[in-house]
Amino acid sequence: MQTSYVNSGLDHEGVSTLACAPPLCLDASQSDTRGLTPKLEEFLVSRPETPFLAVDLSQVQSKYLELQGGFPHAAIHYAVKANPSPEIIQLLAALGSRFDIASRYELDLCLSLGVSPAWLSYGNTVKKAVDIAYAFECGVRIFTFDSEAELEKLRKHAPGADVQCRLLSQGKSADWPLSRKFGCDLDMAYDLLLKSRDLGLNPIGVTFHVGSQQTDPQQWVEPMQQAGELYRQLGRQNLELKWINIGGGLPATYQATLLPFSCYAHTIQQALQDSFGSTPPQIMIEPGRFLVADAGVIQSEVILIAHKSRQDLRRWVYLDIGKFGGLAETMDECIKYRLRTDRSGPMGSVILAGPTCDSADVLYEKSSYALPLDLAIGDPIEILSAGAYTSSYASVGFNGFPPLRTYCL
Ligand SMILES: *Cc1c(COP(=O)(O)O)cnc(C)c1O
Repeated sequence: MQTSYVNSGLDHEGVSTLACAPPLCLDASQSDTRGLTPKLEEFLVSRPETPFLAVDLSQVQSKYLELQGGFPHAAIHYAVKANPSPEIIQLLAALGSRFDIASRYELDLCLSLGVSPAWLSYGNTVKKAVDIAYAFECGVRIFTFDSEAELEKLRKHAPGADVQCRLLSQGKSADWPLSRKFGCDLDMAYDLLLKSRDLGLNPIGVTFHVGSQQTDPQQWVEPMQQAGELYRQLGRQNLELKWINIGGGLPATYQATLLPFSCYAHTIQQALQDSFGSTPPQIMIEPGRFLVADAGVIQSEVILIAHKSRQDLRRWVYLDIGKFGGLAETMDECIKYRLRTDRSGPMGSVILAGPTCDSADVLYEKSSYALPLDLAIGDPIEILSAGAYTSSYASVGFNGFPPLRTYCL
């Protein structure tokens, strides 16, 4: 089968070269995540009804081990929201992973799969009081807050629990920023961490998230330095924080070429040392995308190819999956998936759209995607590195289309 990788072309910023000294960036062991594993190729040949997501669990495992290799002493909490497939949670649990949950429903899911509540952190800063009480009753002991009112809820419904304060973050150079909505500034974090102790809670550290699909390792440096300064200030009040939660954000393989993973690990470890000296806090890390994205492929089918006028040069290509079927991260064309077809002809530019009766259901219009000119209705199209934030984002039945089927292999 001949494959053509689509080049979204001109508007991405390419890869950061700031990162780390060359010898440390060379990592011969890093797996090539741009192709599909034989297991996935084989499954695609069997042509189940499209659209669907297929995940190679052994690739999730490789990513977990790679992460563990880069952060050997860290507590790894997989962010369940990235892909809550039970098979993935079970696999990661067996590998020793812990989990970050965003709701009581993810809590129930983890518990139902035999995950100990001691391995869970409730990382959402926006929680109903009843859900805090429920999680506490179930045995969850790590909670995140970024406001005084949330701290009051925790005092009341999770007395004595371990708490971490989320810092505001810029989300700079992240393709899917998580800024503004979460976190508080450093002065407020200082006040709230002291207050949490006064309220009988057990402050364990700060947490930050540099933005999802963060391609620049340097973005972890500044929050780490800020945390170092904050920990020293709090130390003068006899508050010793034992943990630092460096969040998620590690990138997956979309259109832009990435630095090797070792660069991220090295830059972050170095920043930890530089910011905290000889007695650094223990690292907690909450990867979502990094662990599951590259392990997944979505198989889709071309439903229609059309021109809007006789002069129209760009074809409209309609797929059987769109924004509401799992490709929500194409919103504002933030995440640029690599596409694959089995045609080999010359390429022509396209506008890519989904199947629903909603004009917002256009995937790529500005990003100059191109597909082979001999592409035909009925052709399969693969959406690569689609294991994260797809099945969990799919609507329950917009236009009657069922949620994205997932096969874990
Ligand atoms: C979503 C989320 C993550 C995972 O982020 P990725 O960019 O997918 O690694 C981690 N921590 C928190 C608190 C989150 O909300």
